[in-house]
Amino acid sequence: MNDYQELERQPPEITAQFQLKKVMETLATVQRASPFYQRLFLAHSLNIHDIKTWREFQLIPPTTKDDIQEFNWDFLCVDRSAVTEYTSTSGTLGKPVTIALTASDVKRLAYNEYRSFECAGGGSSDLYQLMLTMDRQFMAGLAYYEGIRRLGAGVVRAGPGFPSMQFEIMQRLRPTIIVVIPSFLLKLIDYAQANAIELNKLSVKNAICIGESIRLEDLRLNAIGRRIADSWNIGLLGTYAATEMQTAFTECSHGKGGHLLSELIHVEILDSGNQPVPPGQPGEIVITTLGVEGMPLVRYKTGDIASMFEEPCACGRTTPRIGPIVGRLQNMIKLKGTTVYPPAVVETIHEQPGINDYVIEIYADEFKTDRIKVWLAVDDSMQPTIQEKLIERFQSTIKVTPDMVFVPQREIEIMQGAGGANRKIKKIVDRRGQFAH
Ligand SMILES: [Zn+2]
Repeated sequence: MNDYQELERQPPEITAQFQLKKVMETLATVQRASPFYQRLFLAHSLNIHDIKTWREFQLIPPTTKDDIQEFNWDFLCVDRSAVTEYTSTSGTLGKPVTIALTASDVKRLAYNEYRSFECAGGGSSDLYQLMLTMDRQFMAGLAYYEGIRRLGAGVVRAGPGFPSMQFEIMQRLRPTIIVVIPSFLLKLIDYAQANAIELNKLSVKNAICIGESIRLEDLRLNAIGRRIADSWNIGLLGTYAATEMQTAFTECSHGKGGHLLSELIHVEILDSGNQPVPPGQPGEIVITTLGVEGMPLVRYKTGDIASMFEEPCACGRTTPRIGPIVGRLQNMIKLKGTTVYPPAVVETIHEQPGINDYVIEIYADEFKTDRIKVWLAVDDSMQPTIQEKLIERFQSTIKVTPDMVFVPQREIEIMQGAGGANRKIKKIVDRRGQFAH
């Protein structure tokens, strides 16, 4: 065990003490070298050398994605010549953000993923099949690849898509672990069933599920997770990360949320007034990077909503864990006094058999009140039953009943933008614009 593998089994007070010291180092770096943070500290009359406690640290105003979008290069703490790798966010939520890494940051990224894969039960004798993009400035692709090399395991860079090719590789090279988006895992299962491939006779023992949640807020598997588990007897381990964090939160085999790597990142869960929420309650994930050289971030608001769990895990680690992302702050919907995120609506639809396709439309009515309309394609004979079931389910899951419209499959496809310029089809259409709430 290295020092940090021991640290993550120590009482939380010891970890907190250690993290405070590391946070001070991040503050000293940004004070010395980041024009953005120099201005921020000056504007709020903050002398970082006066910060000695977590309470004092919490007085630093959080950084937002808008800040990075507007002042991207004012976050860089090294000379441009020291940058070895430029990664970027996907840009699905506005202008993409560039995160520049030094050679030391790439090493840190590799270490982070090595620790994550190890937490998820991987070792040097494993063979990983990566079903994801390795280029396009995608940080995670680089992280997984470098992390696997550090682990001393084998890697197959299969790339995304093409179930037939994925199975051909699985049969030829016998990988033990696949790294994959859960919705693509469903496509693999469909392909296997249509082509008489016996999934449980393959060599795969675990799937590291990236990009989408496989769990509900209470950590049980969600509808997608259950569908996978029903068809394929493999371990499903979730992992959560965002480019800006340069760090992942990955589940151990107990599947109780992604473990914090306390030597790499500090995390807070805050409410809309930037106050901490109690453990187990959803709030915004706010991070401070530790040990980052190129673009360190202090109290960065990720826009992702999740709960943090603090009780010790059965694996022996005492580090807090982050539960599944329940939604993005930008897509929050206020319905008759309750807060709803689109994934909760999606989950209810996924749970209901007989729905061929759907689109969730979010809009503001003439009183600027948020409304949800669910467009559904089902077989005509099923419509009354499905409508009745959904009304009942929505009442118990999101406490309101959205408007439901039953239309032919073709209309759904048009709404999703299928076949258009966008490669990705849209199942959630948010028409509220920036002033909606
Ligand atoms: Zn654990």
